[in-house]
Amino acid sequence: MLGRLGEKALEGDVAHAYELSGPRSIGKRTVAIRFAQTLLCTSEPLGAGGCGHCLACRKIDHYTHPDVRLVTRLVDVERETDRKFIAIEQIREMQQDLALRPLEGRWRVVIIDDAAELSEHAEVALLKTLEEPPPHAVLLLLTPTPSQLLETVRSRLVPLPLRLVPTTEIAEGLGRRFGAEARAFAPAAAGRPGVAFALAADDATSKARRALETEFYHLVASRMTDRFAWAVDLAESERDAQKRSKMLEARFAEWAELVRDAAVASSGAERALRPTRARESAALARSVSARDLVDLALSLERWRRDVTETTVNARMLLELLVLRVPYAAGVAEAA
Ligand SMILES: [Zn+2]
Repeated sequence: MLGRLGEKALEGDVAHAYELSGPRSIGKRTVAIRFAQTLLCTSEPLGAGGCGHCLACRKIDHYTHPDVRLVTRLVDVERETDRKFIAIEQIREMQQDLALRPLEGRWRVVIIDDAAELSEHAEVALLKTLEEPPPHAVLLLLTPTPSQLLETVRSRLVPLPLRLVPTTEIAEGLGRRFGAEARAFAPAAAGRPGVAFALAADDATSKARRALETEFYHLVASRMTDRFAWAVDLAESERDAQKRSKMLEARFAEWAELVRDAAVASSGAERALRPTRARESAALARSVSARDLVDLALSLERWRRDVTETTVNARMLLELLVLRVPYAAGVAEAA
């Protein structure tokens, strides 16, 4: 997706300002992020688009890298006047930041999305930076409507028009990122990779959630020996401590909601967080007292906090968990 831009950046051929244009959802933001990762990735050897795994790449993905700033309109800004626009204050703040040397990498990257939403004053203020950019500055102006930018601004940007992408190419990208099944989302995107990736990501999220739900109901319906085997397998399935914590956190968060639903169901209330699991919640509520369910929900919530805030022994925690989870054979049938 980054193509020649990425290759050139690796060779040190980096301009101070680019104009990324193209229809909505074509992937302008993704290209901007990948470009920032190309510039700031800390893995060796460097590759176009960055490695996606190092701390720098991950921070950029989450918009927490101190050398990458996203400037976008604040729709909730109080004052009516600048509501629909990127305000001049936002550009001034960006400029103060941009004048400083990078904190972690060689560059400071500013992504302005959508550049056509700059207020008139903001755009004029931005011109100053484009005329005399700090040596470490890279600005990426994203917009579906580049013709709305001032000619004086546009003349200082390297144009990078993004075009509709062939479906086969989108399918390949989806396959690499989400696995072969996700290729099916390519045709619906009609040439816009951004649409396809959003669809595939939503699908991946809901599949992962369903899998965790099913895992819990199976656990509830399992005997102790199977439960302990499950705890050991899970604890040993991930060597990386951080990923292991994430894995536990995801389960505790999901399961606290399932148990909460069962507790609420047993008291006759009907506001389920997971309406699709109403049958399982009812089955669980029939076998376990509301009080035990509440206790378990609270424990799950506490363990979730523990794994995010401290280093825990995963196996020990999972073994405690299987002792606490009530036994209810009927629930797995409902699941
Ligand atoms: Zn990286």
